[in-house]
Amino acid sequence: MTVLVTGGAGYIGSHTVVELLNAGHETIIVDDLSNAKLDVIDRIETITGKRPAFYQFDAADKERLRDVFANHKIDAAIHFAAFKAVGESVRKPLQYYRNNIDSALTLLEVMEEFGCKKLVFSSSATVYGPNNPHPYKEEMPAIQSSSPYGWTKVMIERILTDYVTAHPDFCAILLRYFNPIGAHESGLLGDDPNGIPNNLMPYICRVAAGQLEKLTIFGGDYPTPDGTCQRDYLHVVDLAVGHLKALEYAENHNGVEAINLGTGNGISVLELVTAFEKANNIKLPYVIGPRRDGDLPAFWADAEKARNLLGWEASHSVKDMCRSSWLFAKGGTPESSFS
Ligand code: UDP
Repeated sequence: MTVLVTGGAGYIGSHTVVELLNAGHETIIVDDLSNAKLDVIDRIETITGKRPAFYQFDAADKERLRDVFANHKIDAAIHFAAFKAVGESVRKPLQYYRNNIDSALTLLEVMEEFGCKKLVFSSSATVYGPNNPHPYKEEMPAIQSSSPYGWTKVMIERILTDYVTAHPDFCAILLRYFNPIGAHESGLLGDDPNGIPNNLMPYICRVAAGQLEKLTIFGGDYPTPDGTCQRDYLHVVDLAVGHLKALEYAENHNGVEAINLGTGNGISVLELVTAFEKANNIKLPYVIGPRRDGDLPAFWADAEKARNLLGWEASHSVKDMCRSSWLFAKGGTPESSFS
């Protein structure tokens, strides 16, 4: 297939492009590089031996998106391009709603113009909101979130669901990610946020590298076995493979499907810190601080639907996640093979 990947230079997008190219799909990236670097394209080529077509512009730019569809016979799209910082979205809601909703609508409109009927959308476990019990199942009501960022995911899921109702020959797969961490085993691709990281693993890596003094664990008094929050961390390469499987499913189906991509297991912040220390033989300075606003004590995926519908399940261990994250963060090459 020929696949358009918006946001294909970003953390999850770039790993997905690698899997698409390795599987023999022609791949076209549209990315404005607002939160990614140009050399990611070279790195993808180094890993796969193939260079994806690359266009640098905002996916909400309709004229330029039309040109891309006019120049390539695009069979399917994977839509990653979005702002994704939860805290920032609370401070800048209009920017988040404008950017995230605009690019999704623009992409859908241009897909319709060019008769492209397969879309994989980058959604999030945040759509389950604060009131559903875990493990989260796809049929639970996904009607609220706790930040403007999360609401953009809820709203785009709604838009796609309504679109499929009106166009039953369209296929939209809504992939609800849990907590992706880890990096490509080459050490060439990974999570490299601008500024001080918000997410746990990039923060841990900056502390390990001595760029930040210590990790603050947000809350040690949650109703969990060790008092710290539990999440379903999954390896970004597993997540990328999940997109490939979703695309293969979409090729042969119509309709809308929400699918969780997670391991089905929760681990705590403290457990992840300890696993990182052990996997990389590093002592990580940390303190237990106050809770962070908006954090839920614990959640993880029910991973059955992905297994049944896509034949997908996460296969990398927490150790792999910790080793590959650190390998990328220190800009190195693998010292030994991954277990
Ligand atoms: N966390 C932490 N310290 C940090 C960043 C995150 O203790 O500096 C915790 C956070 O409270 C949550 C978990 O790590 O329990 C995962 O947070 P992250 O922001 O990576 O993802 P989220 O689950 O919020 O989407």
